Amino acid sequence: MTDLTGLTAIVTGGASGIGLATAGLLAARGARVGVLDLKPEVEQPLTGYRADVTDDASVRAAIAAAAEHLGGIDIVVNNAGIGAQGTVEDNDDAEWARVFDVNVQGMVRVTRAALPHLRRSSHAAIVNVASIAATAGLPQRALYSATKGAIVSLTLAMAADHLGEGIRVNCVNPGTADTPWINRLLANAADPAAERAALNARQPTGRLVTADEVAAAIAYLASPQAGATTGTSLAVDGGMQGL
Ligand code: NAD
Repeated sequence: MTDLTGLTAIVTGGASGIGLATAGLLAARGARVGVLDLKPEVEQPLTGYRADVTDDASVRAAIAAAAEHLGGIDIVVNNAGIGAQGTVEDNDDAEWARVFDVNVQGMVRVTRAALPHLRRSSHAAIVNVASIAATAGLPQRALYSATKGAIVSLTLAMAADHLGEGIRVNCVNPGTADTPWINRLLANAADPAAERAALNARQPTGRLVTADEVAAAIAYLASPQAGATTGTSLAVDGGMQGL
Protein backbone atom coordinates (compact mmCIF):
# COMPACT_ATOMS: atom_id res chain seq x y z
CA MET A 1 0.00 0.00 0.00
CA THR A 2 1.21 3.50 -0.75
CA ASP A 3 2.73 5.09 2.34
CA LEU A 4 3.00 8.87 2.56
CA THR A 5 4.02 9.12 6.19
CA GLY A 6 6.01 12.27 6.87
CA LEU A 7 5.29 13.84 3.47
CA THR A 8 3.42 17.06 2.74
CA ALA A 9 0.99 17.53 -0.14
CA ILE A 10 -1.04 20.30 -1.71
CA VAL A 11 -4.12 19.59 -3.82
CA THR A 12 -5.65 22.28 -6.02
CA GLY A 13 -9.41 22.14 -6.41
CA GLY A 14 -9.30 19.99 -3.29
CA ALA A 15 -12.62 21.18 -1.83
CA SER A 16 -14.79 19.03 -4.14
CA GLY A 17 -14.98 15.81 -6.14
CA ILE A 18 -11.73 14.18 -7.28
CA GLY A 19 -9.61 16.75 -5.42
CA LEU A 20 -11.42 16.23 -2.12
CA ALA A 21 -11.24 12.42 -2.44
CA THR A 22 -7.52 12.74 -3.22
CA ALA A 23 -6.80 15.09 -0.32
CA GLY A 24 -8.62 12.72 2.06
CA LEU A 25 -6.76 9.67 0.77
CA LEU A 26 -3.33 11.34 0.92
CA ALA A 27 -4.08 12.32 4.54
CA ALA A 28 -5.28 8.78 5.35
CA ARG A 29 -1.96 7.46 3.97
CA GLY A 30 -0.04 9.70 6.37
CA ALA A 31 0.57 12.99 4.51
CA ARG A 32 -0.05 16.48 5.88
CA VAL A 33 -2.38 17.96 3.27
CA GLY A 34 -3.22 21.50 2.23
CA VAL A 35 -6.19 22.18 -0.05
CA LEU A 36 -5.98 25.16 -2.40
CA ASP A 37 -9.40 26.21 -3.69
CA LEU A 38 -11.64 29.18 -4.37
CA LYS A 39 -13.69 28.22 -1.29
CA PRO A 40 -11.36 25.99 0.73
CA GLU A 41 -13.94 24.84 3.28
CA VAL A 42 -12.50 21.48 4.32
CA GLU A 43 -12.57 19.44 7.50
CA GLN A 44 -9.71 18.25 9.71
CA PRO A 45 -7.14 16.86 9.17
CA LEU A 46 -7.12 18.84 5.87
CA THR A 47 -6.10 22.51 5.92
CA GLY A 48 -7.69 24.94 3.46
CA TYR A 49 -5.88 27.81 1.70
CA ARG A 50 -7.82 30.22 -0.48
CA ALA A 51 -6.36 30.45 -3.96
CA ASP A 52 -7.58 31.17 -7.46
CA VAL A 53 -5.25 29.39 -9.88
CA THR A 54 -5.78 32.21 -12.42
CA ASP A 55 -4.35 34.73 -9.94
CA ASP A 56 -0.57 34.39 -9.54
CA ALA A 57 -0.41 36.44 -6.33
CA SER A 58 -3.05 34.32 -4.60
CA VAL A 59 -1.30 31.11 -5.72
CA ARG A 60 2.08 32.31 -4.42
CA ALA A 61 0.58 33.43 -1.10
CA ALA A 62 -1.32 30.16 -0.57
CA ILE A 63 1.71 28.00 -1.42
CA ALA A 64 3.99 30.03 0.84
CA ALA A 65 1.47 29.71 3.70
CA ALA A 66 0.98 25.97 3.11
CA ALA A 67 4.73 25.31 2.96
CA GLU A 68 5.26 27.19 6.21
CA HIS A 69 2.33 25.68 8.13
CA LEU A 70 2.72 22.12 6.85
CA GLY A 71 6.54 22.06 6.80
CA GLY A 72 7.55 22.08 3.11
CA ILE A 73 5.92 20.60 0.03
CA ASP A 74 6.75 17.13 -1.33
CA ILE A 75 3.67 16.48 -3.48
CA VAL A 76 1.65 18.75 -5.77
CA VAL A 77 -1.66 17.53 -7.20
CA ASN A 78 -2.71 19.91 -9.99
CA ASN A 79 -6.41 19.07 -10.11
CA ALA A 80 -8.38 22.36 -10.29
CA GLY A 81 -10.27 22.54 -13.56
CA ILE A 82 -13.42 23.72 -15.28
CA GLY A 83 -15.45 22.40 -18.19
CA ALA A 84 -16.53 23.75 -21.56
CA GLN A 85 -19.00 22.34 -24.05
CA GLY A 86 -19.34 22.80 -27.77
CA THR A 87 -17.51 22.68 -31.08
CA VAL A 88 -14.89 25.22 -32.20
CA GLU A 89 -17.77 27.39 -33.42
CA ASP A 90 -19.49 27.57 -30.06
CA ASN A 91 -16.82 29.19 -27.84
CA ASP A 92 -15.38 32.63 -28.58
CA ASP A 93 -11.78 33.76 -28.01
CA ALA A 94 -12.54 35.03 -24.52
CA GLU A 95 -13.93 31.64 -23.48
CA TRP A 96 -10.89 29.84 -24.94
CA ALA A 97 -8.61 32.14 -22.96
CA ARG A 98 -10.66 31.71 -19.75
CA VAL A 99 -10.69 27.90 -19.81
CA PHE A 100 -7.00 27.62 -20.78
CA ASP A 101 -6.19 30.09 -18.00
CA VAL A 102 -7.74 27.81 -15.36
CA ASN A 103 -6.97 24.34 -16.73
CA VAL A 104 -3.45 24.84 -18.16
CA GLN A 105 -1.90 28.10 -16.99
CA GLY A 106 -3.33 27.50 -13.51
CA MET A 107 -1.23 24.34 -13.36
CA VAL A 108 1.84 26.26 -14.54
CA ARG A 109 1.39 28.97 -11.87
CA VAL A 110 1.01 26.42 -9.07
CA THR A 111 3.97 24.37 -10.27
CA ARG A 112 6.20 27.46 -10.62
CA ALA A 113 5.42 28.57 -7.07
CA ALA A 114 5.88 25.05 -5.66
CA LEU A 115 9.14 24.11 -7.45
CA PRO A 116 11.52 25.76 -4.94
CA HIS A 117 9.88 23.68 -2.19
CA LEU A 118 9.86 20.49 -4.28
CA ARG A 119 13.61 20.89 -4.93
CA ARG A 120 14.19 20.60 -1.17
CA SER A 121 12.25 17.30 -0.97
CA SER A 122 13.79 13.85 -1.34
CA HIS A 123 10.44 12.39 -2.57
CA ALA A 124 9.13 15.14 -4.85
CA ALA A 125 6.21 14.34 -7.13
CA ILE A 126 3.70 16.26 -9.23
CA VAL A 127 0.48 14.65 -10.44
CA ASN A 128 -1.56 16.54 -13.04
CA VAL A 129 -5.23 15.74 -13.65
CA ALA A 130 -6.06 15.69 -17.36
CA SER A 131 -8.97 13.65 -18.79
CA ILE A 132 -9.89 10.93 -21.22
CA ALA A 133 -10.93 13.93 -23.33
CA ALA A 134 -7.20 14.41 -24.07
CA THR A 135 -7.10 11.26 -26.19
CA ALA A 136 -10.65 10.04 -26.89
CA GLY A 137 -11.98 12.47 -29.49
CA LEU A 138 -15.19 13.30 -27.60
CA PRO A 139 -17.91 15.26 -29.46
CA GLN A 140 -18.89 18.74 -28.22
CA ARG A 141 -15.72 19.11 -26.14
CA ALA A 142 -13.27 20.92 -28.47
CA LEU A 143 -12.02 23.53 -26.01
CA TYR A 144 -12.05 21.26 -22.96
CA SER A 145 -10.25 18.48 -24.88
CA ALA A 146 -7.59 20.93 -26.11
CA THR A 147 -6.83 22.00 -22.53
CA LYS A 148 -6.56 18.39 -21.39
CA GLY A 149 -4.35 17.42 -24.35
CA ALA A 150 -2.11 20.34 -23.40
CA ILE A 151 -1.87 18.93 -19.87
CA VAL A 152 -0.64 15.56 -21.20
CA SER A 153 2.05 17.34 -23.26
CA LEU A 154 2.92 19.64 -20.36
CA THR A 155 3.33 16.60 -18.11
CA LEU A 156 5.87 15.06 -20.50
CA ALA A 157 7.80 18.31 -20.85
CA MET A 158 7.86 18.90 -17.09
CA ALA A 159 8.93 15.30 -16.47
CA ALA A 160 11.91 15.82 -18.81
CA ASP A 161 12.82 19.22 -17.36
CA HIS A 162 12.80 18.16 -13.72
CA LEU A 163 13.99 14.53 -13.86
CA GLY A 164 17.54 15.62 -13.04
CA GLU A 165 16.27 17.41 -9.94
CA GLY A 166 14.59 14.26 -8.63
CA ILE A 167 11.07 15.58 -9.27
CA ARG A 168 8.71 13.09 -10.91
CA VAL A 169 5.78 14.37 -12.99
CA ASN A 170 2.85 12.19 -14.03
CA CYS A 171 -0.70 12.60 -15.19
CA VAL A 172 -4.03 10.89 -14.55
CA ASN A 173 -6.71 10.74 -17.24
CA PRO A 174 -10.09 10.09 -15.61
CA GLY A 175 -13.12 8.94 -17.56
CA THR A 176 -16.53 10.32 -16.59
CA ALA A 177 -16.33 10.42 -12.81
CA ASP A 178 -19.21 10.68 -10.37
CA THR A 179 -18.51 14.09 -8.78
CA PRO A 180 -20.48 17.30 -8.09
CA TRP A 181 -19.32 18.45 -11.56
CA ILE A 182 -21.25 15.63 -13.27
CA ASN A 183 -24.21 16.14 -10.93
CA ARG A 184 -24.35 19.80 -12.01
CA LEU A 185 -24.41 18.74 -15.67
CA LEU A 186 -27.09 16.09 -15.01
CA ALA A 187 -29.22 18.58 -13.06
CA ASN A 188 -29.59 20.62 -16.27
CA ALA A 189 -30.95 17.63 -18.23
CA ALA A 190 -34.68 17.32 -18.94
CA ASP A 191 -34.71 13.95 -17.15
CA PRO A 192 -31.61 13.69 -14.89
CA ALA A 193 -32.29 10.06 -13.88
CA ALA A 194 -32.65 8.95 -17.50
CA GLU A 195 -29.54 10.94 -18.49
CA ARG A 196 -27.57 9.30 -15.68
CA ALA A 197 -28.72 5.85 -16.82
CA ALA A 198 -27.67 6.70 -20.40
CA LEU A 199 -24.29 7.95 -19.15
CA ASN A 200 -23.75 4.71 -17.20
CA ALA A 201 -24.71 2.68 -20.27
CA ARG A 202 -22.05 4.47 -22.36
CA GLN A 203 -19.28 3.28 -20.01
CA PRO A 204 -17.61 -0.06 -20.88
CA THR A 205 -18.08 -1.06 -17.23
CA GLY A 206 -21.72 0.09 -17.16
CA ARG A 207 -20.99 2.64 -14.45
CA LEU A 208 -19.17 5.91 -13.88
CA VAL A 209 -15.67 6.01 -12.43
CA THR A 210 -15.67 6.97 -8.73
CA ALA A 211 -13.68 9.89 -7.31
CA ASP A 212 -12.04 7.39 -4.92
CA GLU A 213 -10.76 5.31 -7.86
CA VAL A 214 -9.13 8.38 -9.41
CA ALA A 215 -7.73 9.38 -6.01
CA ALA A 216 -6.13 5.93 -5.59
CA ALA A 217 -4.26 6.34 -8.89
CA ILE A 218 -3.11 9.85 -7.93
CA ALA A 219 -1.96 8.66 -4.49
CA TYR A 220 0.10 5.87 -6.08
CA LEU A 221 1.78 8.19 -8.61
CA ALA A 222 2.49 10.69 -5.81
CA SER A 223 4.04 8.06 -3.55
CA PRO A 224 7.69 7.00 -3.19
CA GLN A 225 6.50 3.52 -4.30
CA ALA A 226 6.14 5.02 -7.82
CA GLY A 227 9.77 6.17 -7.71
CA ALA A 228 10.55 4.67 -11.15
CA THR A 229 7.54 6.25 -12.86
CA THR A 230 7.68 9.66 -14.52
CA GLY A 231 6.20 11.17 -17.68
CA THR A 232 3.27 8.74 -17.81
CA SER A 233 -0.46 9.27 -18.29
CA LEU A 234 -2.56 6.75 -16.37
CA ALA A 235 -6.12 6.27 -17.63
CA VAL A 236 -8.75 5.66 -14.93
CA ASP A 237 -11.66 5.41 -17.31
CA GLY A 238 -13.35 2.04 -16.94
CA GLY A 239 -11.65 0.84 -20.11
CA MET A 240 -13.08 3.63 -22.29
CA GLN A 241 -9.75 4.49 -23.94
CA GLY A 242 -8.58 1.00 -24.74
CA LEU A 243 -11.89 -0.60 -25.79
P1 NAD B 1 -15.51 19.62 -9.20
O1 NAD B 1 -16.23 20.72 -9.91
O2 NAD B 1 -16.29 18.70 -8.30
O3 NAD B 1 -14.28 20.21 -8.40
C1 NAD B 1 -13.41 21.15 -9.00
C2 NAD B 1 -12.79 22.00 -7.89
O4 NAD B 1 -11.89 22.92 -8.53
C3 NAD B 1 -13.84 22.84 -7.13
O5 NAD B 1 -13.67 22.72 -5.74
C4 NAD B 1 -13.57 24.26 -7.61
O6 NAD B 1 -13.86 25.26 -6.64
C5 NAD B 1 -12.07 24.20 -7.94
N1 NAD B 1 -11.68 25.26 -8.86
C6 NAD B 1 -12.27 25.61 -10.03
N2 NAD B 1 -11.70 26.70 -10.54
C7 NAD B 1 -10.69 27.06 -9.68
C8 NAD B 1 -9.75 28.11 -9.65
N3 NAD B 1 -9.72 29.06 -10.60
N4 NAD B 1 -8.88 28.16 -8.62
C9 NAD B 1 -8.91 27.23 -7.63
N5 NAD B 1 -9.80 26.21 -7.59
C10 NAD B 1 -10.69 26.14 -8.61
O7 NAD B 1 -14.82 18.78 -10.38
P2 NAD B 1 -14.21 17.28 -10.46
O8 NAD B 1 -15.15 16.48 -11.26
O9 NAD B 1 -13.75 16.81 -9.14
O10 NAD B 1 -12.95 17.59 -11.43
C11 NAD B 1 -11.64 17.76 -10.93
C12 NAD B 1 -10.65 17.62 -12.07
O11 NAD B 1 -10.86 16.37 -12.71
C13 NAD B 1 -10.80 18.69 -13.17
O12 NAD B 1 -9.53 19.08 -13.62
C14 NAD B 1 -11.55 17.97 -14.26
O13 NAD B 1 -11.29 18.50 -15.56
C15 NAD B 1 -10.99 16.57 -14.11
N6 NAD B 1 -11.85 15.53 -14.67
C16 NAD B 1 -13.12 15.34 -14.20
C17 NAD B 1 -13.92 14.35 -14.77
C18 NAD B 1 -15.33 14.08 -14.31
O14 NAD B 1 -16.05 13.37 -15.04
N7 NAD B 1 -15.75 14.56 -13.14
C19 NAD B 1 -13.41 13.57 -15.82
C20 NAD B 1 -12.11 13.81 -16.28
C21 NAD B 1 -11.33 14.79 -15.69
